[in-house]
Amino acid sequence: MRTGLFGGTFDPIHNGHLQVVQSAKWLLNLDRVIFIPAGDPPHKTDKVITDKFTRLDMAQLAANIVGAQVSDWEVRQEKKSYSLDMLRHFRSVYPQDELFFIVGADSFRDLPLWWHYRELLELCTFVVVARPDVDKETLLDRFVGDEKPPRVFYLEDVPMDISSTEIRQMAGSGQDVSHLVPPAVLTFIKTHSLYINGGDNGFRKN
Ligand code: ATP
Repeated sequence: MRTGLFGGTFDPIHNGHLQVVQSAKWLLNLDRVIFIPAGDPPHKTDKVITDKFTRLDMAQLAANIVGAQVSDWEVRQEKKSYSLDMLRHFRSVYPQDELFFIVGADSFRDLPLWWHYRELLELCTFVVVARPDVDKETLLDRFVGDEKPPRVFYLEDVPMDISSTEIRQMAGSGQDVSHLVPPAVLTFIKTHSLYINGGDNGFRKN
């Protein structure tokens, strides 16, 4: 089987994420895609993020729309988890599968800073999703001459120019975000009074 793994904070999950899944499934002929909401992301420790189980619930609501699955593996980790831990986990669960790690170009750009990133390269093919501020041409520059450069499939023409940060800010200032998130997620955000102060309020802590 060809399995796509899509990690992120998903605070909240939005239509851009869903488009990525649909395109990746189609273009790479993936048999399944699994969203993996982060528990306590190592690179976002300075930010307040919404409770991990709340983010997991929103991911589940959205995943159903595109026939994807959601894994609670990361949110159940008691210590900080790294992408390498996550990939090793899914390698052991699906030993026969080809693993495709879906990441935005913004994240991929920082790959050499990731925990033991060279080991990651052995475990997966990267599906790098174009992002507005990242130059495709220079993305692989730092791997030139490497004995084992990453296997990369570049996904173009997908991204909607939206981010969870913008959605939190818009929702916080009372703007309509119904075109940016699936209806079920919108209802969830309203029902749970998420993002009412643009993010940093008493409802939002890990
Ligand atoms: P934030 O604004 O809170 O940083 P985000 O919208 O970038 O959030 P994440 O949960 O960090 O969402 O995203 C998970 C992955 O999805 C990241 O690799 C990110 O680059 C990618 N991604 C986010 N938004 C889009 C989009 N609109 N189109 C394509 N990829 C996206």
